[in-house]
Amino acid sequence: MDIENIKKEALDKLENIKDSVDLESFKRDYLSKKGKIRDLFSLVKDLPIEEKKTLGQKINQLAQEIEEVFLLKEKDFIKEKKEEIDLTLPAKPTDLGSLHPITQIRREMERIFQLMGFSVVEGPEIEDEWHNFDALNIPEGHPARDALSLGKTFYLKGGNVLRTQTSSAQVRYMKKMKPPIRIIVPGKVYRYETTDASHETNFFQLEGLLIDENVSVANLKAVLKKFLEEFFKREVEIRLRPSYFPFTEPSFEVDMLCTVCDGKGCAACKRTGWVEILGAGMVHPNVIKNGGLDPKKYKGFAFGLSIDRPTMMKYKINDIRLFHSGNLNFLKQF
Ligand SMILES: [Zn+2]
Repeated sequence: MDIENIKKEALDKLENIKDSVDLESFKRDYLSKKGKIRDLFSLVKDLPIEEKKTLGQKINQLAQEIEEVFLLKEKDFIKEKKEEIDLTLPAKPTDLGSLHPITQIRREMERIFQLMGFSVVEGPEIEDEWHNFDALNIPEGHPARDALSLGKTFYLKGGNVLRTQTSSAQVRYMKKMKPPIRIIVPGKVYRYETTDASHETNFFQLEGLLIDENVSVANLKAVLKKFLEEFFKREVEIRLRPSYFPFTEPSFEVDMLCTVCDGKGCAACKRTGWVEILGAGMVHPNVIKNGGLDPKKYKGFAFGLSIDRPTMMKYKINDIRLFHSGNLNFLKQF
């Protein structure tokens, strides 16, 4: 009987289908209008009516059965095809993370000073005592050195320290470069202290140094004002308040008119209308001498700016310890 043979043949073929070409040719050979199953109906034509009916039913059953198996096969095949890798498709986006907020702010500060002709340089984080203290006019026994070293300096084996301020790079570069010198030194500094929301054992500073002939406080003020205006993207008013640092003379605290209240007084400026923003001054002649330059010929100014504090101001971060927490929920916001 042809029906049984065709059924066996068809199922065999279905079993061995390997690709879409096989699938198509099977469809054409067996299931189309001119296919083998349809052909079986030609056997029926001349039979007596009763046999016609029985055979007809059998053929229909066969057709249905084969088609069902075929559809299952086709479905499997489509699923498999979907799972194949298509190398021409664009890649899934990779999670690259983001720059740390301190890095973003540091780069912005560097950009502004570079526009004003300053070069970005780096100094060592492990520093000898001479560059960290003596060269900056902080000799042993000096109250400032005592204040730092008696409890606030990390001492390492062999007499080195973790630098307590980026100023330690000043004398290194005075020795390396010829005036005019215009550099900024961004980097990490270390203090041995108890941490709280506004104190960390390591934080970031940006040191600025300019050495040339005929440099005055007016130049210092102009550079700082220009920098702050570029940084805060608005007009800024600053004032210099007399202060004391061993490595500058005269020394100043630089205040900025509060950008929150425009000087009227608010919580952010503790009702004073001014916000302390950095320390600065004219480089002490002893420091210039330590840098191998003639203090009678050369003058200069230096300033030290926190990178952490403006970052906290800009993004309204209320705890400095978050910067080093490695907390992804915190970092993913930037
Ligand atoms: Zn204010």
